[in-house]
Amino acid sequence: MSVAVIIVAAGRGNRAGGDRPKQWQGLGGAQVLSHTLAAFADHRRVVVIHPDDRPLAAGLGVELVNGGATRTASVRAALEALAGSGVSRVLIHDGARPLVPGVVIARVLAALDHAPGAAPALPVTDALWRGSENAVAGTQDREGLYRAQTPQGFWFEAILAAYRAHPGDAADDVAVARSAGLPVAIVAGDEDNLKVTYPADFARAEAILRGRKMDVRQDDVRLGNGFDVHAFCDGNQVWLCGVSVPYHRGLLGHSDADVGMHSLTDAIYGALAEGDIGQHFPPGDPQWKGAASDIFLRHAVARVAARGFRLGNCDVTLICERPKIGPHAVAMRAALAGIMGIEVDRVSVKATTSERLGFTGREEGIAAMATATLVPTLVRA
Ligand code: MG
Repeated sequence: MSVAVIIVAAGRGNRAGGDRPKQWQGLGGAQVLSHTLAAFADHRRVVVIHPDDRPLAAGLGVELVNGGATRTASVRAALEALAGSGVSRVLIHDGARPLVPGVVIARVLAALDHAPGAAPALPVTDALWRGSENAVAGTQDREGLYRAQTPQGFWFEAILAAYRAHPGDAADDVAVARSAGLPVAIVAGDEDNLKVTYPADFARAEAILRGRKMDVRQDDVRLGNGFDVHAFCDGNQVWLCGVSVPYHRGLLGHSDADVGMHSLTDAIYGALAEGDIGQHFPPGDPQWKGAASDIFLRHAVARVAARGFRLGNCDVTLICERPKIGPHAVAMRAALAGIMGIEVDRVSVKATTSERLGFTGREEGIAAMATATLVPTLVRA
């Protein structure tokens, strides 16, 4: 059985406020979408994005599909991208539900052993009213009513056929499945599996994350350092701290050789005492050849959140005679802050020469050192 997960993250999410769509905003020290992706780390993941968000998504390290004008069109595009690739079951999940518990995912998958569709939901427990203009006009029996959640799971060929047969928009994937006559089982959802929609939802999601991190002590502030070197080679640009700097040479490495981002990533792993980049992304593994280094940094930051911390600040020092870093430092800080989902004033990038001494002085390569602090995610009162 081959399971794929479609994560729908193409929405504009303007009800949530903020300067970017909600799935790209920060939550507990990592992007909302990083949490969502981490919940499905065991599976093949396809993320549907808005074409405008491609720069934000470039380093996610998962398959990307451009979304359509509606959620229905977006899911259809992702299903078509998976067609013929041997997938037997598919989970379709909202990118803005970052805290889906593993047990909910397991329930949906288990139910697919017995039904072509399955989805989590919670029974409605509040009394329901009908009304207009802020006056109660009547009551509504809540018996048999559910609040739908995701992931909604299906036999792949069945839901693909249902989407191909569905002419217009639909409320969700279950609606498309049912319109094709597919039975859909209801499994128990979870109150933590909230959809981040309004600004207040971020606070609630942060509180849930805190609740999962009760083993982190309030005074458990952590410090890590990282150091990296890459040699110059032929080329016409160097990647430094997420910015392409035009230069008459390149940097040699298995990935994009972003020496600044590597040192920062290692500083974060160091603070967690979770090894280094080479352990998480073995350099002999061909899938990381030429990789954009923000894949590594995003992983480290997701580990920070998963361990109950957030990044307090970081400081990167690039050591080289040339290229000159100063003109690019502001862009580098912004790039790193965006990847890590933290404020730019928590990110320092500076440079020094080594007074023409040693390998950096002889302009044989660039070295970088970095420090990162981690602080516990807001602690219990
Ligand atoms: Mg390196």
